[in-house]
Amino acid sequence: RAPGLFDGILQGLRLQREPAVTHAVDGVDLVVGRGEVVGLVGESGCGKSTLGRIAAGLLAPSEGSRRVNGVEAAAMSRRQQRQARLKIQLIFQDPYASLNPRLRVTEIVGEAVRTHDLVPQSELDDYVCAQLQRAGLNPALRGRYPHQFSGGQRQRIGIARALAVNPDMLVCDEAVAALDVSIQAQILNLFMDLREQLNLTYLFISHDLGVVEHLSDRVVVMYLGRVVETAPVAEIFHHPNHPYTKALLDEVPRIDVRRRAFSAVKGEIPSPLAPPSGCHFHPRCPYAMPRCRVERPELKSVAPGHLSACHLNDQA
Ligand code: SF4
Ligand code: MG
Repeated sequence: RAPGLFDGILQGLRLQREPAVTHAVDGVDLVVGRGEVVGLVGESGCGKSTLGRIAAGLLAPSEGSRRVNGVEAAAMSRRQQRQARLKIQLIFQDPYASLNPRLRVTEIVGEAVRTHDLVPQSELDDYVCAQLQRAGLNPALRGRYPHQFSGGQRQRIGIARALAVNPDMLVCDEAVAALDVSIQAQILNLFMDLREQLNLTYLFISHDLGVVEHLSDRVVVMYLGRVVETAPVAEIFHHPNHPYTKALLDEVPRIDVRRRAFSAVKGEIPSPLAPPSGCHFHPRCPYAMPRCRVERPELKSVAPGHLSACHLNDQA
């Protein structure tokens, strides 16, 4: 298989949650090609944030492989690892929690640039202003503190900070989930403009299929630590294969109806600490058969570029 900008075969990231040991990510095979926008969707607790943190280099998988530009992360020198970490930046759901309240915007955006000596000290202020402008913020406000900004503006500060280190890829974890719908659209448009201008690659994580629809080239659907389906975005929306994806799509409302949360998929999400046997989705699946309780379905090709993990596909 061709290496992507990021790719990983993550055979189980073990998270220690006393007293149990659980696999937040269980045999996930993810490739994000250069310039590609991959939307990663699923209900909360499905492991998508963990996967995002692994992609960004903040967590290491306990087994498996994590590669950046085809190079195995575990085999990189310290310097290469630092470099790789800068190249993949994480944008968080709550910008407020990720911005140091005691630092001015100029320090927040310039901090990593200074630490890594990316531009000469004499040019730092101009450089910070340029990043703020790119993120759609007035540079004249750079002397202010995070609490003096709105939620949308704070997310722009977080974006300016990420752009300042000249990344190749942004991992956006619920980056617009905390914002009003009109502000969401503005920030999503900013991400798309930046993609064009900077040839950025994205892993766009959201519980909301409606959010990823407009910006993703490809969608990856996760359920309880496993990828259940992946396909080009139009294929996911027009020819979904997996019963879980279909249930999610039933909940993507028409434009005139308020968005609902994924929790409306029938039944409770089982605990990731004790996932159901066989197909993890079987307790909630309207098509479940006896074999679904015992046998894990593998991801199989159902159309070009379209993989799905469901036993129903064996019966066709
Ligand atoms: Fe439903 Fe069985 Fe397919 Fe799982 S494998 S999604 S339980 S039909
Ligand atoms: Mg999360």
